[in-house]
Amino acid sequence: MRVDRVLVLCLAVLIAGVIENRAFVFYLVNPNTVPLAPLRWNVNSTAAHTNVVDRVTKKVRYFIASDAYSAANKTNEINAIRASFDQWSSVPGSKLQFEEGGFVGPQNDTLVDNTNVVFWAKKSLMVNGGTVNLSGLHGWTSTYYTVDGTMLESDIILNGIQYQWFTDFNNSSNQAQFVESVVLHEIGHFLGLDHTPAGGATVVNGPNGIGTQAGLSADEVAAMRYLYPDTSLKWASIHGKVTKSGAAVYGAMVIVDDSAGNIAGATVTRLTGDYDVFSLPAGTYRLRVSPFDPPTAPNSSSLMRPGEINVDLQLGNPDTSFLPTANLTMTLTNGESRVQNVNVTSGTPSRIASLSRPTEFKGLISQLRTAVSVSPGQSNLYVAVSSPTLQSGSTLQISGTGLTVGPTTFYTGKIAGQNTLEALVQVSSNATPGLRTFIVNNGANFAYANGFLEIASLVPDFNFDGLDDRFQRQYWPRWTAPEAAPGADPDQDHFSNAYEFATGSNPTNSASFSFLIESVEEQRFGFDVTWKADVGKKYQLYGRPAFGGASAWQTIGAPVTATNSTMVITDRRATTKFYRLQLVP
Ligand SMILES: [Zn+2]
Repeated sequence: MRVDRVLVLCLAVLIAGVIENRAFVFYLVNPNTVPLAPLRWNVNSTAAHTNVVDRVTKKVRYFIASDAYSAANKTNEINAIRASFDQWSSVPGSKLQFEEGGFVGPQNDTLVDNTNVVFWAKKSLMVNGGTVNLSGLHGWTSTYYTVDGTMLESDIILNGIQYQWFTDFNNSSNQAQFVESVVLHEIGHFLGLDHTPAGGATVVNGPNGIGTQAGLSADEVAAMRYLYPDTSLKWASIHGKVTKSGAAVYGAMVIVDDSAGNIAGATVTRLTGDYDVFSLPAGTYRLRVSPFDPPTAPNSSSLMRPGEINVDLQLGNPDTSFLPTANLTMTLTNGESRVQNVNVTSGTPSRIASLSRPTEFKGLISQLRTAVSVSPGQSNLYVAVSSPTLQSGSTLQISGTGLTVGPTTFYTGKIAGQNTLEALVQVSSNATPGLRTFIVNNGANFAYANGFLEIASLVPDFNFDGLDDRFQRQYWPRWTAPEAAPGADPDQDHFSNAYEFATGSNPTNSASFSFLIESVEEQRFGFDVTWKADVGKKYQLYGRPAFGGASAWQTIGAPVTATNSTMVITDRRATTKFYRLQLVP
């Protein structure tokens, strides 16, 4: 077993040190060798200790320090760590699984000890044998691996000294650190990922509280499908080289949007100018290339510098002096490997340096460097972008479908020394959730804030199981546990969790269940069928006059979306003798 080197990964601030990256962004042992050797767990290798990779179950093991963050909320904190691992292993199309090894005692530092541990540092900000200062970092993850990139051990340290932590998903106003968000992010590093240029993704610097980091984005899903594939599935990919006047461009962002305008994959060019975007479903995509802000730009006039996603300045100088391209549209078939070289034009682009929190108040401009979020159905929201270089006469747009963006208002001096572009946005109720991009357009010139506007999902499903997470969080301390799955029936009342969710009963109490139809009452012109409904769910009523013979279930009216917890349909066909009600997706 060889420990080749230690990677130093961070959440909030770039730590000087040995960092080699390449994107979703995934880590490479050496970014300049082909074939690429990404860091990843290999559950079939014997390189890692059996305490780290279970040879029998083929699962990567993790341990949790028994003291968690706080005595008062310890159980929830431990369950939040478990739920974070569960979310990564639930990614459809990826096979990597974790198993909890158990508890270890309170930890003060990370050690190479054949144990993957998650713990809160509470005694000293200096960790990793005194080589890493946690100050200003929410968390930090060590990775140890062999020369071929096989992971041997990884420890996740959370900063329990400078930050407050909370676990309640319903506490949307809490601006402390949401355990799941930060642990999800750090597990991304644990799995071999570096920060991504998709602004609202999980493995990139995010906002405090419950924000865009909660729940994995399409970019992280693609990463898991690439690093830990279900080999029965085939994906399309895009590869190419970015050049400027014939020379390779290092450190250019390459962004791929799907047909809804959501980021499907995001990466960065290597020293050779080459890039790869993996794990795309068949479909139509738009690809563009845009520069980072200059490495030396101050926070006030930059949104994403190379260091923000750990592009290694020791390898070379990222080229930030070129104009962002327009989108190139391409249609990929299943399994296709498309080559798309891109030539960029030298120049000093105008840039987006900050975003304003979406608000109903026109002209109320804030200055954020992390992604913002809106929800389907929200209307009359003002969004805005600012920087010293934005020009009057430019238009502010947002990528994709399901949004209406009004005319652009230009302000100067709302933020000292900066110009602002503001527009009114309507988000349609059927807008596809995902990471959208702010686009500033002025003639042939563009500026992008790639993936910095999240359209949140109205029904959170961070573990991809089709069941509303809020229902699972309500009834199970570990909401991702097997007993919380849609098909499970933990109270053994013969009604699945999914059914009990649909009918509004308690899935953990065998005395609580509901039949959909509550009553059928004869009226003068037919029957009133009354049922206990879930508001917002769609139901179809069926009827038949008899069983057997020519009789069959027939729809009675069109599907009805419940506006009340008790719903009534009057069936005017006096011949109906039997009713049945179905939930319609
Ligand atoms: Zn990080």
